[in-house]
Amino acid sequence: MSTIVQKFGGTSVGSIERIEQVADKVARFRADGHNIVVVVSAMSGETNRLIALANEIQDQPTPREMDVLVSTGEQVTTALLCMALHKRECEARSYNGGQVRILTDDAHTKARIREIDDDRMRADLDAGRVVVVAGFQGVDENGNITTLGRGGSDTTAVALAAALKADECQIYTDVDGVYTTDPRVVDSARRLDHITFEEMLEMASMGSKVLQIRAVEFAGKYNVPLRVLHSFQDGPGTLIRVEDQSDMETPTIAGIAFNRDEAKLTVMGVPDTPGVAYKILGPVGNANVEVDVILQNVGEDQSTDFTFTVHRNDLQRAEGIMTRVASELGAREIRTDAKIAKVSVVGVGMRSHAGVASKMFEALAESGINIQMITTSEIKISVIIDEKYLELAVRALHSAFELDVEPVEG
Ligand code: ADP
Ligand code: ASP
Ligand code: MG
Repeated sequence: MSTIVQKFGGTSVGSIERIEQVADKVARFRADGHNIVVVVSAMSGETNRLIALANEIQDQPTPREMDVLVSTGEQVTTALLCMALHKRECEARSYNGGQVRILTDDAHTKARIREIDDDRMRADLDAGRVVVVAGFQGVDENGNITTLGRGGSDTTAVALAAALKADECQIYTDVDGVYTTDPRVVDSARRLDHITFEEMLEMASMGSKVLQIRAVEFAGKYNVPLRVLHSFQDGPGTLIRVEDQSDMETPTIAGIAFNRDEAKLTVMGVPDTPGVAYKILGPVGNANVEVDVILQNVGEDQSTDFTFTVHRNDLQRAEGIMTRVASELGAREIRTDAKIAKVSVVGVGMRSHAGVASKMFEALAESGINIQMITTSEIKISVIIDEKYLELAVRALHSAFELDVEPVEG
């Protein structure tokens, strides 16, 4: 008897009709003799609705109360799905994260899972029941409700699969797998049969929100077989797996990711002396603002322009810090730009293929797109460009790397 964890995202449980369809599917798997644990998201739009309600009262409610509020969305879906399963004479029980129990640290709104006690789930599975768990949430050691960050139900599912040593963790969503790039942006995007954990992690980190980053991290660490599938269409989906050395020919590029979440700050005319980077980025780090891409240039007059990017939500805070630092350093001025985007090409094949960067820059040049910053890792190259060229850039790169062409399997 195999154990399967199935996660259904917001749109898949977005209405009673869809919840009934999910119940049909789950009941079928159960009838086939599998042990089933289901993780559900809140109905689509619900988490945003709850956040908007909170913001009508306070701009920055305490993270603890936010967690109490937003965790309710998934609780609703667990109960509704169980009712729909009962209607199909399929025994099922719903639990919230704290009941299962998913123990997390106390970092409200971005908590990390520490431990899962699977006794309760196992007892239900042994009794033949489907276990339905609210995604995205847990409790800290003092019993406070915590949540795992936006998109966190993916992580709940992978973590439960790891704890139960499940045979597979299936992420059901509104696309039939992981694509070479977001199919909402590029029509010719293609579903991948498989992708490595490393590539998926870079794709997710660089902005492909089909899977939450932590979920991929977790799956890689505990080697959880992870598959992304369409909730209501049959198909093989995409398997996320370890790199298969026996593949005859690994495609150089697996996919293209992008995001509009960043903003850029430039401190102009700082003296080119030791310690400048530290003096600029130290206070930013101390304020818990994460820095992504960094660029430093020494001009002819031996002064430096220092540019870095942060999350757009942190721009104001970072600018405030920079204004103070700039006057201490005697910098000429500070410039900010929130209208930037980051585009990344990702692929493990890059390790053994030269020329990926030049091909990328050539494609962008041919489209007349100016590159503002560049950053690389072993398996990805990212560029910062003007936000208004984002879609053009993604399409140009998608065709330059021939991602719309079905590869010949080795
Ligand atoms: P869920 O609510 O089921 O968690 P999400 O909206 O979080 O669903 O994730 C699915 C969406 O991710 C798709 O509708 C698609 O637009 C987007 N997406 C972004 N990049 C990719 C990609 N490379 N492959 C597939 N989907 C992607
Ligand atoms: N409901 C949460 C969100 O919208 C968690 C999730 O759907 O995974 O972010
Ligand atoms: Mg999601």
